[in-house]
Formats: sequence, structure tokens, C-alpha cells
Amino acid sequence: MAKVDFSLENVQKCICKTCPVQADSACVKEKQMKVKEMMPKIMAGEMKPNPEMIPGLYCARGKASCPDIDVSKMCQCNECPLWKEYDLPSGEPMGYYCRDGAAK
Ligand code: SF4
Ligand code: SF4
Repeated sequence: MAKVDFSLENVQKCICKTCPVQADSACVKEKQMKVKEMMPKIMAGEMKPNPEMIPGLYCARGKASCPDIDVSKMCQCNECPLWKEYDLPSGEPMGYYCRDGAAK
């Protein structure tokens, strides 16, 4: 399994943004709003996405900083394009990277 790059392309492919685990998190919603505001600058190359500010791509950046996520809901990582692209099922943990840390 290759290490997942923290790249803008992978941020865009990540489906954590629609995951039920994060759906009711006020902290995640606030981060998503900020990312939306900053996206034009990031796309223009004027700013680099900082892992701390992106509520997703946890397989690359490690555990979520938002404490109000609900891990009793189902992780969606196995439906993400990066799941196959990086052969994530052969590494650890198996999903729930927001709870258990980056893929290794
Ligand atoms: S595998 Fe999971 S954490 Fe990684 S990019 Fe896809 S949805 Fe996000
Ligand atoms: S890592 Fe899995 S459980 Fe966590 S937000 Fe992403 S899809 Fe949901």
C-alpha cells in the first residue's frame, strides 16, 4: 500500500465530505465553510491547503481534530476512489481514519 498524498486532487476525490460520521458535526461544518471561502485562492495557487483546515482526507493526514464526529455511523471509505487507487484495504486501519489515524 502506497502512502496517500495530501494533495488538492485527493482532497477533491475524498468522500468524507458526505459521510454520515461528519454530517452533524458543527465543527466540521465550520471548517467546510472556511474551505469553501478559501477554495478560489487554493485553486489559483495563492494558498496551499493546510491539513488542519480540511475536514477530510484522514487516510493521509491522520485523526480528525473535530471532537463532535459520530463514529457510531458507517464509514464510507470503501466507496471512495482512493480506496482502490492506493489499495487501502491491504493497509491499516481499515477505514475510520478520522478516528484511528492515517493509513499505513
Ligand atoms: S479513503 Fe476515506 S479518508 Fe481517504 S480520501 Fe477516501 S473517503 Fe477520505
Ligand atoms: S474516514 Fe471514513 S468514517 Fe471518517 S469521515 Fe471519512 S468516510 Fe467517514
